[in-house]
Amino acid sequence: MRYAETGYNLEIDLTRGNIERAETDPKLTELHLGGLGTNAKILWDRVPPETEPFSPENLLIFGSGLLGATPATGANRTIVTTYSPQTLLMGYSMMGGFFAPELKYAGYDKVVFRGKSPDLVYLWIHNDKVEIRDAAHLKGKGAVETAELIKKELKDPNVQVAAIGLAGENRVYTASIEQGRSSASRLGVGAVMGDKRVKAIAVRGTKDINLARPAEYVELCNEVLKYIKYRNENPVPNVMTILQGLGSPQEMLHTDEKWHTENFMWGNARTRRKDFWNGEVEKKWKETQEMVRTRLISCYNCPMKCGAIISVPGISTYMMKCFSKLTYAMAAFVDDLDFGFRIAQRATEYGVDGFSTPQIMAFAFELREAGILTEADFEGCPSDNEGKFYWLLDRIVRREGIGDVLANGTYWAAQKIGKGAEAYAHNNIKKHEQLPLKLGMLNPVYFLMYATGEKANITQIEGQFPQAPFMTKEEREGFIRDWIQVPDEKFKQYVMDWEPRGERSNPYYPTVDMSVDIVDWQEMMHYIDDAVGVCAGLSSFPLKPPYHIHNYPKLISAAAGIEMDEEKLKEVYRRNRNLVRAVNVRRGLRRADEKPPEDHWKKRFPELEEKLLDAYYAFKGWNNDGIPTKETLHKLNLDTIAEDLEQRGIIKNG
Ligand code: SF4
Repeated sequence: MRYAETGYNLEIDLTRGNIERAETDPKLTELHLGGLGTNAKILWDRVPPETEPFSPENLLIFGSGLLGATPATGANRTIVTTYSPQTLLMGYSMMGGFFAPELKYAGYDKVVFRGKSPDLVYLWIHNDKVEIRDAAHLKGKGAVETAELIKKELKDPNVQVAAIGLAGENRVYTASIEQGRSSASRLGVGAVMGDKRVKAIAVRGTKDINLARPAEYVELCNEVLKYIKYRNENPVPNVMTILQGLGSPQEMLHTDEKWHTENFMWGNARTRRKDFWNGEVEKKWKETQEMVRTRLISCYNCPMKCGAIISVPGISTYMMKCFSKLTYAMAAFVDDLDFGFRIAQRATEYGVDGFSTPQIMAFAFELREAGILTEADFEGCPSDNEGKFYWLLDRIVRREGIGDVLANGTYWAAQKIGKGAEAYAHNNIKKHEQLPLKLGMLNPVYFLMYATGEKANITQIEGQFPQAPFMTKEEREGFIRDWIQVPDEKFKQYVMDWEPRGERSNPYYPTVDMSVDIVDWQEMMHYIDDAVGVCAGLSSFPLKPPYHIHNYPKLISAAAGIEMDEEKLKEVYRRNRNLVRAVNVRRGLRRADEKPPEDHWKKRFPELEEKLLDAYYAFKGWNNDGIPTKETLHKLNLDTIAEDLEQRGIIKNG
C-alpha cells in the first residue's frame, strides 16, 4: 500500500488525445519525496535539454506534494513545472488553494501533459473518469469566468478549476494559471498551458489518502496547529509588521502600506517616494481596502486567511493576495491607490503575473519618454496614467502592435527593440523581472539568494533568518530565546553578533561562510516545503514557523512510512537542490548568469561578491562555474545525472 501519496500520475498525451493512469516508482518518493523533487526528475528524464518551451516535447507538470491533502495544516501546494519561455530554464511556480488536495482525492499525485492539442480543450478529472473535453466555447474567456462556466457545465460547485485567461491562450510570457484562491504566476507557466491548448483542468475527488501511522501523524499535526495559534497570539516583536506573524504576508488584512509605498520603487522600478504616505492617503486607503474586501479567505486546511475576495463596485469579483494590490498603482505612478484593485480584476481575468506585468508596462512608457519607442507605437493610447495602463494591458494580452513585443517581458522586448532599450530592462535576474526594490548597502545573504536562486523569485527563497540586525542586545537575546527552529545553535550567535553599523554589519557581516550557512538553511526549508507541498507561509518564509527541520522528519515518517531523520531529510534536500541545478546547467546556466540586477544595491563590492559565489559553490560541492561535481552527484545517488553531464562535456575530468 502507498501512504501519503496516491502512487499514480495522470499522463495526458494531448497530440493523440491519450489518457493513461501510470503507477509511479516508490523508490523515487524515498529519493525526492514528491512535488518539486519528482517534477524535476520527470523533466530531467523525459525532456531533452535542447527542447524549446513551446515545443510539443516540453512537459507541463502539475504536482502535489507528498503531504498534500493529509491533515497537515497548509499542505495544499500545487507545483507547476515546465521549461519557461521567459528564462529558458526550468520554471516552477506554486499555487495554494484547493487544487492539489482535490487531485489527490481523485487518486493522482500529478498531471503530466505532453504534446499539443489541435484544438482548445479542458481536462475533466472525476476520480477514475478522466476526459479531454472541447473548450471552444471558453476561448477568450477570463480565467475566473472560465472556472465558473465549467462548474456550471459540470453542475458541481465543488469542482476545483485551474484555468488560463486570454494571456495564456496568446502565450504571453507572464501568463499565469488562476485557481480561484491562488495562482501559479511566475515564469510563464500559463503560456506553456496555452501553447498546449489547454484552457483549464477541472478536478473532483472523493477518495481517501492512506496514512502509515495515522494516530501519531494526527498528534503531530495537532502540535503544529497549536503552535500556529500560539504564534498568532504572540507575534515576533521588533520586526516589521508583515514579518511578525505567519502566512503569506498578511497584505489583505493590513492596511498600513507606509513601508511598501515609501521603500519599494515606483514606475519602472526606479523612483522612491519617501514622503508618499500621509494621514490622508492612509485614511482613504484603509476605507478603500475595507470597502472592496468582501471577506478574508484561506487555502485548503489552513486558518491563516491570507487572501481576500475583492468586489469593486461595477466589476466582477476576484481573489487577491499579497502585494499585487499595489504593484499596478505604483508602476503607473498614480496617487489614487485604489486603481490597483480595479485593474487587478482585469489582469486576473486575463491571467497575468501581478509582479512582472506592471513593470513591463512601466518599462514601455519609459522607452516612449526616452524616444526609443515612438508615438506610432502608442497610437490610440489615452494620456492619463490609468487609461494608459488599461490600454497597454489590453495590447499585451492580445499581442497587438507593440504589445506583441512587450508580451515577452522586459528582457526579450529590449533585445528586440534595441536602440539602447536594454538599459531600461534593468530589474531582471535570469531574464525575469524582480521585486521593484533598490537598496543602499549590499547584503551578503541576499546577494547569494538573488544570484543563485532558481525559483527566480526572491520572496520565495528568503525566510527563517532576520532580514536586518536587531538594534539592541536585549532585542537579540529576546529573539533567540525561543528560537527552536534553528538547525544549529551557531545561528543564534550570528544574530547576537550582527550589528546595524560598524565592523560587524553588512556587507562584511554575516561573514562569507556565515552567509553561505544562512542561505543553505533558507534554501533547505524551501526545497523541503516544495517537495512535501506545504505552504511556505507556514514554514520557509516566516521567522519562527510551525514546520521546521526538527519536526518535518517525524511528520514525513508518520504520514508516508518512510524512515526519516534530520540527516536523511537534509540529504533529500541536497539531492533535489542538485537535481534542479543539473536540469538548469544542462540548459546552459552558468556562473555568468548568477547576478542580481546591477542597481539593486547602490554600494557594490565586486571582490566580496566573487568570494561569496566561490564559497557558496564550494559549500554545495559545485565547481567554480556553479556545476555540481561528479563526486557530489555520486554521494547523492545521482550517478546517472553525472554520466549525462559528463557525456555532454559539461562535467570534465570529474
Ligand atoms: S498560510 Fe496563507 S497562503 Fe499559506 S496555506 Fe494558509 S491561507 Fe494559504
